[in-house]
Amino acid sequence: MKMSKKTLPIATICAWKPRIDPTPDYQRPPAWSRKQKQLLIDSILREYDIPKMYWRSVERDDGVRYEVIDGQQRLRTIWEYQAGEYGLPRDTDPIQGIAVGGKKYADLDMDISTVFDSYAVDVVIIDDAVQTDEEDEVRDMFLRLQNGTTLKAQEKRNAMPGQMRDFAKEIAGHAFFENCKFSNSRFTYDQVASQMICIEMAGGPASVRDSDLNRIYRENTTFDTSGKTGKKVRRVLDYLLRAFPEKTPELERYNAISLYCLVSTLIGGYAHIGTEADLAKWFIAFETDRRANDRLEEEDRDPALVEYKRLTSYSTDAEESIRSRLEFLEKLFFSAYPDIELKDSIRTFSFEQRLAIFRRGLGHCQIKTHCTGEKLSWGEWHADHIIPYSHGGKTTVTNGQIGCPSCNLAKSNTID
Ligand SMILES: [Zn+2]
Repeated sequence: MKMSKKTLPIATICAWKPRIDPTPDYQRPPAWSRKQKQLLIDSILREYDIPKMYWRSVERDDGVRYEVIDGQQRLRTIWEYQAGEYGLPRDTDPIQGIAVGGKKYADLDMDISTVFDSYAVDVVIIDDAVQTDEEDEVRDMFLRLQNGTTLKAQEKRNAMPGQMRDFAKEIAGHAFFENCKFSNSRFTYDQVASQMICIEMAGGPASVRDSDLNRIYRENTTFDTSGKTGKKVRRVLDYLLRAFPEKTPELERYNAISLYCLVSTLIGGYAHIGTEADLAKWFIAFETDRRANDRLEEEDRDPALVEYKRLTSYSTDAEESIRSRLEFLEKLFFSAYPDIELKDSIRTFSFEQRLAIFRRGLGHCQIKTHCTGEKLSWGEWHADHIIPYSHGGKTTVTNGQIGCPSCNLAKSNTID
């Protein structure tokens, strides 16, 4: 990460407004009150020091742009004051003997507005990411500026012994993470893996903040890693790895979580086998559109995509954000692929169906991959879906056949 320091007069910062993006994908603090804004302007007019800002320079098609890592509220406050959106409090003391109470920028005495225009702001500029790790470095730096404790959370969890810790470690080692944009600095893989497990345990979108993750580590020290939830998490990640077999720059942290939710739904309720390539193609196209939309003039942007961006820009660990993102993506994905079928909701053959299948097959194994049609007794055969359930095969007598235990086991192992 290369950094350089610039001292920019406010006049320049205002002139550069079109080149500065104050809302990149980092988490945002709450907006300032009018009082806080007025206090900053008052400090500037009195030529007090204000904290330096951190910007990141990004090379775009139309030239260099700046993303604000830290200093967003100060920047907005300055722009808004210069645009005349508010004035100073009426009871503000005069500056250099000149009255400023209640004044907006345009009403300031020339001597005072000159102080504002020429006020020097220190800006640390971080050079555009060359390596994929940089996104994380910048995010980490932002978090450090906001509060120093967040970074330690996963490190602390990794020290909490128990099956959940071990399972999260195993999942963090899944090859899918290597293909994401973010790196494993400060145990990011462990953190995202824990978030995925947390979502799977909740059966869908859930709050995955540090306190939630701490709770699942604490309450699941005897977690069964080969149980239903454990298997499902592995299956979703296996699917994601097949869908994204190479390094994919669109797989930011929040996208990895959104896709986890989408694929978990897909595997849970739909005939999903063979949909990996379609899902990846659709997702990349969606991200490409979304990024193009961001580069349009504000009034030309698609409001739905603007809203989606908002959901990915802050509180991304909140249940509401995860749920809204999932609903948004589900709607698009299932409209793009309307032929993806709901799995037959009943997976187990009923007694009547089993009887009909057994009679029809005369009690002999019909899979015949590991035997030559073994004769079976009622207690030892399995009712098998000819077209597998996970491929959309229905639980009907027509789609049923007799399987001996070894043929049936071999078949289900090759499918799941
Ligand atoms: Zn058999």
